[in-house]
Amino acid sequence: MTDINPLLTMQGLPPFATIRAEHVVPAVEEVLAQARATTAAVTAAGGTSWESLAQPLEEMQHRLGRIWSPVEHLHAVADETSLREAHDACLPRLTDFWTELGQNAALYRAYRALRDGPEYQRLDPVRQRIVDEALKDFHLAGVDLPPARRERFRAISTELATLGSRFAQNVLDATHGWTVHLTDAQRLAGLPETARALARQCAVQRGLEGWVLTLDAPAYLPVLTHARDRCLREEMYEAYATRASEQGPQAGRWDNGPAIAAILALRHELARLVGFESYAELSLAKKMARSTSDVMAFLTDLAARARPVAERELAELEAYAHRRDGIGSLEAWDVPYYAERLREERYALSQEELRPYFPLPRVLEGLFGIAERLFGVHVRPLQGIETWHPDISFYEVRDAAGELRGEFYLDPYARAHKRGGAWMGACIGRARTRERLWHPVAYLVCNFAPPVDDHPSLLTHQEVITLFHEFGHGLHHLLTRVDYPSAAGINGVAWDAVELPSQLMENWCWEPEALALFARHHETGAPLPAAMVERLRAARNFHSGLQIVRQLEFALFDFRLHLEYDPARGGRVLETLERVRDEVAVVRPPEYSRFAHGFTHVFAGGYAAGYYSYKWAEVLSADAFTRFEEEGVLNGSTGRAYLASILEQGGGRHPMDLFVTFRGRTPRIDALLRHNGLQPAC
Ligand code: ZN
Repeated sequence: MTDINPLLTMQGLPPFATIRAEHVVPAVEEVLAQARATTAAVTAAGGTSWESLAQPLEEMQHRLGRIWSPVEHLHAVADETSLREAHDACLPRLTDFWTELGQNAALYRAYRALRDGPEYQRLDPVRQRIVDEALKDFHLAGVDLPPARRERFRAISTELATLGSRFAQNVLDATHGWTVHLTDAQRLAGLPETARALARQCAVQRGLEGWVLTLDAPAYLPVLTHARDRCLREEMYEAYATRASEQGPQAGRWDNGPAIAAILALRHELARLVGFESYAELSLAKKMARSTSDVMAFLTDLAARARPVAERELAELEAYAHRRDGIGSLEAWDVPYYAERLREERYALSQEELRPYFPLPRVLEGLFGIAERLFGVHVRPLQGIETWHPDISFYEVRDAAGELRGEFYLDPYARAHKRGGAWMGACIGRARTRERLWHPVAYLVCNFAPPVDDHPSLLTHQEVITLFHEFGHGLHHLLTRVDYPSAAGINGVAWDAVELPSQLMENWCWEPEALALFARHHETGAPLPAAMVERLRAARNFHSGLQIVRQLEFALFDFRLHLEYDPARGGRVLETLERVRDEVAVVRPPEYSRFAHGFTHVFAGGYAAGYYSYKWAEVLSADAFTRFEEEGVLNGSTGRAYLASILEQGGGRHPMDLFVTFRGRTPRIDALLRHNGLQPAC
């Protein structure tokens, strides 16, 4: 009997209950072989029309995504050794395939012929943009370089991938390489019950008495925020701030210094090979921001506005810490602790107090109700869909005309073998293939506390915001009208614009009119009292100046590091960080701190010369929301306009054009400043 590989035979939704680790490598090899055959057939036939060239490649991309997506997803939410091994075995095969495709000179010539031929003018703007962007991608992959330099480009790319993964591994090892063992309960004073239980569990796992604190976020952050023991805070801060460096208690064991120097040098060389002055310039080639000077102007302008506010906030905090505990000099390890005490005192509101008002089922009803009022879509649960765990629910999304627009899985609760955090992932992307129209399917994944006894899962307000955020990404993926995988939904959307739909949705978590739809006590059904709503809103901007300058410090450091790199002088990492701090920072970390050595976003992730994207997209989302503020936060016609001009368009047009279509003008920073309690621009 022949074994049927469900990854290769599936017709619609992935059969999650039957996918096994042993199916993964054969399926990926098969689909890559098919993809190579398609590419070869397309180039051999010499087609230069959309139908003969781009369409088969778009369909190939769709099939690859459809088969790889459930593998990647299961790896993240139901991890076990054999699946992880199969997943990891496929990664280099996929990387090789994409590098090979990017440097395929025959394909590049065919796309150029399509762009220069008569058919191009007859294509709609979405397909024109796909062709233009494909040409840009070929160029950025080094396709038009002479052979020796193309080889060098490929070697650098491989080396950078290795360095990035070593960087991340060092941070991980350094994070797990240090713990503090406590036997005196006094030292835990101030810690919330959840953090104590975790520390106790860590000790039990190691066969120790008492408590063990680690540098993992769920252990580290509560100590910095709540531990009364100042020495404990300092000890953990030092270990954390020197991870993977030549400083601190683990000095030199996993030092990322050499990797940082090599990464910066190679990125600079790569950028020069494909014709850019700096890696920062290369990074902007696929972003919404037009020039490095635009990005620098944006960041320095925002810094100039936020810094005075941050200085006032810090001075006030220093006075408070002095008054409360006689602290003479407020250190980096004191700031989160006293900030939290001041916040509690001033607003008399804790996240724990809000939980009973945010039972998950009601929050979901409210969220879907808001989507219905704004975008005219109906979200309805479907039963009997095959999933990867009994906690998962499944929903379909139909529009006002009853048309099925998309479907999504919701995986809400934390559990073993599931990655932390929250995210939206694409299961199937919208695509019109020769056989059919595929509607989009998404995964929404969160890590909320599961229901206990007969209580539903109760969320903090922060978790409600997370759910709205990921649902915003989900709507972008699900409601797209673009039929081509390269530009459908979030695909092809510039990195610095992709957080617009997600951050926009967060706004409804703060509006009394919206909160009234779902914030109700899970036992009594009483609405969230108006006084609590007021305190919640008042606390929104607590220390916003300090938070903004911190984000700007990271963004400016990342951008200048890649913009000002000089091969003769090397990376000058510490020097650049010092200069950036002179400009924007108000809290000065100690000399030994080695922030860069743990900056995985930039040295091991996709944020190199792109960390600014967070704030950039916030300008867009804050400004887009002002139209809702003006016309009514639950105004359906404003919602429909946003749906038509942004959500449905995906990556089919330039993000600036989409924004202008919705807002009627280019973005202004005023709303971001106002939402953060800063001075509006003159
Ligand atoms: Zn996001």
